[in-house]
Amino acid sequence: MKLIETIKHYAQTQPDALAFVNDDKTLSYSELWSQSERLASRLQKETVGDRSPIIVYGHMQPEMAVSFLACVKAGHPYVPVDVSIPADRVMKIIKSSKAELLLNNSGTDLDTGDALISVIKPEHLDAGEQLETNPDNWVKDGETFYIIYTSGSTGNPKGVQISADNLQSFANWVTEDFPVENGHVFLNQAPFSFDLSVMDLYPCLQAGGTLWTVTKDMINRPKILFEALKQSNVNVWTSTPSFAQMCLMDPSFSEELLPGLRVFMFCGETLPASVARQLKERFPKARVFNTYGPTEATVAVTSIEVTDDILERYSSLPVGSAKPDTDIVIVNEDGEPVQEGEKGEIIITGKSVSKGYLGEKELTEKVFFSYNGEAAYRTGDAGYKENGLLFFQGRLDFQIKLHGYRIELEEIEYQINRSKYVQSAVVIPFYREEKIEYLIAMIVPAEHDFEKEYQLTSAIKKDLGSTLPAYMIPRKFVYQKEIPMTANGKIDRKRLKEEVTI
Ligand code: AMP
Repeated sequence: MKLIETIKHYAQTQPDALAFVNDDKTLSYSELWSQSERLASRLQKETVGDRSPIIVYGHMQPEMAVSFLACVKAGHPYVPVDVSIPADRVMKIIKSSKAELLLNNSGTDLDTGDALISVIKPEHLDAGEQLETNPDNWVKDGETFYIIYTSGSTGNPKGVQISADNLQSFANWVTEDFPVENGHVFLNQAPFSFDLSVMDLYPCLQAGGTLWTVTKDMINRPKILFEALKQSNVNVWTSTPSFAQMCLMDPSFSEELLPGLRVFMFCGETLPASVARQLKERFPKARVFNTYGPTEATVAVTSIEVTDDILERYSSLPVGSAKPDTDIVIVNEDGEPVQEGEKGEIIITGKSVSKGYLGEKELTEKVFFSYNGEAAYRTGDAGYKENGLLFFQGRLDFQIKLHGYRIELEEIEYQINRSKYVQSAVVIPFYREEKIEYLIAMIVPAEHDFEKEYQLTSAIKKDLGSTLPAYMIPRKFVYQKEIPMTANGKIDRKRLKEEVTI
């Protein structure tokens, strides 16, 4: 695979160049290559099933990059799992992926309960024998390179399989069609369990650049983040628009802080025109790109440079046009293509489309299909095309984005409803200026002995904490006698949304 060969080439031609920086820990290209060779050789000796997935658990440690590369060199896809994911959910991922091996880079122990899984930590590896892996055995072509788990409406996360071909097509697009230069320093904001991280990790390695990682401690303590950014020399900024918006709240977020910044790449949620405008003012030498795509189509499939002209013409920014080997079709409810300018569901076809959800035939057949001989994915996103540009118009279902995180409201409802303190529940996003600010759980409680509502809330939150990551737990809990229904007996979400929107 070109991506892996290219990393090998850099390990030989620029061995001391840094591939990865995390706080004071660094990894050069030669270290990335040799450590992943050693780990891959060890993985090949373990009795893991042929091509079976390997869980890679941790946060932003350099060992994460070593582990990813080692898995695919040993012929196995990897499943990145961030430390912010609670143990219960990790167990679900282990069971759903049928992984037999977990690489724990987190520095802490992980309770894997009754799962039949062996755990390897970095300190288990001896520095001894260095074997060379055989490129014939590396993950290649249509074989799965990674599996990323996203929120699922049935209450369980679902694993999107991305092949070596999917990923290579994406990495080529970013390195060839964006102003990314060899040796650039890329900012990595998203944990590796979200596919936004793929937008910086692999294009960075393919360009012989340095991945500069933001940890969750930095995000929680902006003063430390800004001090670190000052030393970062970041050239390519990849993040959610929400993260950039948070940084813009600090007046020092400007060219003076990051004089080398040349490219902003956004994906995952609506990029407000005001954010793009402010970035262009504060970083006059940088170009801003809006991109669009779901995990199921390998990070992003459309892009547009947000120029002054675009900002002048559109108050809601377009998400651009499709990458060369991929197409966008807008269809009506019968699956027929609509006229230019007409709204419908966004369908993605071509090289970026995943082969489906791991082990989930039914779910896969619902949204993946073949369109004019090409692999196709029904996004569930609404949109329209005008003058060759795609415009995103929200969702057709209950999937939302909160601070950049993809969430199925039905998954949260499923988990709340499992609590013994709950009779029924519905989760409603609270909107301010068309952006979701937080989630509200509207609950009809079951019988309980708590005197005060806050005690009930903390008991339900405790239940949720063991199954859902923190970003999925509603901020506000409202108790009601009943949940309003529409005339045909469905939860009246529209009315609830209107009640809580300002
Ligand atoms: P994820 O799989 O986490 O990348 O989430 C994919 C979903 O995020 C898409 O289906 C859209 O609903 C939303 N999304 C991605 N990019 C954009 C964008 N540029 N503007 C608006 N929404 C976006």
